[in-house]
Amino acid sequence: MPPRSRPEVLFPVFAPVTALKGIGPRIGKHIERLLGEQIVDLLWHLPSGIIDRRYSPSLSDLEPGRIATLEVTINKHHPPPADNRRMPYRIDCSDGTGEITLIYFHGRKDYLNSALPEGEVRLVSGAAELYEDRLQMTHPDMIGSLDERENLMRVQPVYPLTEGLSQNMLGKAITGALGRAPELPEWLDPAFLKERGWDSWHDALAVVHKPLELADLFSGTRARTRLAYDEVLASQLAISLVRSHVRRQPGRQTVGDGHLCTRVRDALPFSLTGSQETAIIDIRADMQAGHRMLRLLQGDVGSGKTAVALMAMMTAVEAGRQAALMAPTEILAQQHYATIAPLAEKAGVECVLLTGRDKGKPRIALLERLASGDVQLVVGTHALFQDDIAFCNLAIAVVDEQHRFGVHQRMLLADKGNAVDVLLMTATPIPRTLMLAAYGDLDESQLRDKPVGRKAVVTTTASIDRLEDAANGVRRQIDRGGKVFWVCPLVEESETIDVAAVTARHAALQQRFGDRVGLVHGKMTGKEKDAVMARFTGKAETELDILVATTVIEVGVDVPDATVMIIEHAERFGLAQLHQLRGRIGRGSRDATCLLLFGHEAGKTARERLRVLRETDDGFEIAEQDLRLRGAGDVLGTRQSGLPVFRLVDLESHAELLAIARDDARLIVSRDPELKSARGEALRTLLYLFERDAAVRYARTG
Ligand code: ADP
Ligand code: MG
Repeated sequence: MPPRSRPEVLFPVFAPVTALKGIGPRIGKHIERLLGEQIVDLLWHLPSGIIDRRYSPSLSDLEPGRIATLEVTINKHHPPPADNRRMPYRIDCSDGTGEITLIYFHGRKDYLNSALPEGEVRLVSGAAELYEDRLQMTHPDMIGSLDERENLMRVQPVYPLTEGLSQNMLGKAITGALGRAPELPEWLDPAFLKERGWDSWHDALAVVHKPLELADLFSGTRARTRLAYDEVLASQLAISLVRSHVRRQPGRQTVGDGHLCTRVRDALPFSLTGSQETAIIDIRADMQAGHRMLRLLQGDVGSGKTAVALMAMMTAVEAGRQAALMAPTEILAQQHYATIAPLAEKAGVECVLLTGRDKGKPRIALLERLASGDVQLVVGTHALFQDDIAFCNLAIAVVDEQHRFGVHQRMLLADKGNAVDVLLMTATPIPRTLMLAAYGDLDESQLRDKPVGRKAVVTTTASIDRLEDAANGVRRQIDRGGKVFWVCPLVEESETIDVAAVTARHAALQQRFGDRVGLVHGKMTGKEKDAVMARFTGKAETELDILVATTVIEVGVDVPDATVMIIEHAERFGLAQLHQLRGRIGRGSRDATCLLLFGHEAGKTARERLRVLRETDDGFEIAEQDLRLRGAGDVLGTRQSGLPVFRLVDLESHAELLAIARDDARLIVSRDPELKSARGEALRTLLYLFERDAAVRYARTG
């Protein structure tokens, strides 16, 4: 059955904005840039203010400065003299109780003559002022004839604008759009609707665009809440449909007998934490089950995700299948390989590494071994999902730092086998609210208890003027055998300029500390980076004490001796990123310090954000604070996180709706997976209305 297309009832609002009367291509372009190209985009654009034009006094009673709508007789036009176009165009008016002059700069004579003809009565709306004891109104906001009174003497909604659009033009377009908004069948459960006291979609839409007082602009009004709920419901329903589709896909049962896991466990120099154990149990249960696993493993930097991933991978090997771990950078892939390979070897399993650096014959040989099933364990980068890579029997794909990959890339790896189980890992905890919004009911495991013996990092903040003191502190640390990370932010659009900045800092520190200062940045080749890292981690002949770096060291990179991290212009980094960076130190037995230097341009919020880092070391807490301080949109790039773009939902004030909508959606999908009941049909319309079309085809057919 071909996917159904958009219901006809929605056609009027899915036309281009230029289909509206009075909206030509020029205004259309501006609207498109601000909102989108379809009429429905206008409907979602909610007012942010009001102008009350209901005050309509006689001229003798008029309070200057207050917005008023006046009924006046147009007495006489006074165009500026032909030799002085700078003079305003003046129009004298009166109402029997007083007089007022309308003032137009660069007024067009023919337009004004036809809009405000002498001898006629007209309505003019705007703020009048007293000028040398005479009333005047400069450029009335609106003018009209008496039969337009209803349109003028009202509370006018004020919409956020963009350059090139005026309030009147946008208001007119939105009014036009509202006129096309159809009555739609109700998709909400009648009991729920009644309990909440909500209007129908159509009526709620009319209400939000007709605010009468400031309180009507709050996101918590009944009408706004109803529309927000519609939007989250569409989003959650789409997620539920896709999820249930994935669940119905025949998965494969991957059952391990535990013998390799036991060997790995014995080989580990530590015992697993409680939350590691729980995560492993959950993952093994998913793998054993008949459906495909899609699980997110969240845990702070250093919480021990690798060990969990390894156990999951070993489970696949026990079942005679293959496992792959994909990391976002070469450095990270190597680090994982360095951890995993020896442990796997102790269990008698070979692990191979595949990155973009493998080329030519060795690469081909490696690919052959993967295709034949000769190797069962592979760690790599993006190189793992190149077209020419085939697995013999891939059962599980582990994706580290999942947010660094696009959804597309993650799926490519999952497509490399037959019903591959997917374990996503992240050290950037996703706040609960965003998690729900982005993934609905994605299965999740959290590593919240830190491995024992981990030292807390003492974090301090200071103005960048204290750089000199910082350098002196560095000297003392080095004298005591410590190692120092010195991080410079990426600031410019151009990588070349950034590299110049770190290179300059490197040179300055070398002058001061001599040769034992190294440099890594993104423009170096993998080999060059490796060489520097090897010196910093003490694996080369000559050692480094200080490593000047850009955020290439953000993830991975284990240097147990590193005790100090200095971050220049910390305000330019995201909180989560700073927390990640800080996680690079304090991995050994010594106390560690992180110094966040902020620049002069750092504002109040920026400093408050840094304070959060000073006060807590819990990545989950930091993620919540980051959300509070920055707003949802900024915390995770929308595309990266898979976070849907909401038009009407304000994640802060509508947070409670998420869980309700999720439960609602689950119930709908379990009761009416084909969306064929009357409510189901209405819900299809809802999905189309919020452009979740792609999900509609997952409404099970037959
Ligand atoms: P992340 O979650 O950041 O990927 P890793 O898996 O790299 O963390 O683990 C960080 C360090 O902690 C590694 O050196 C690892 O060997 C160690 N580790 C992991 N689990 C434990 C544990 N249960 N007890 C002690 N150390 C552990
Ligand atoms: Mg890790």
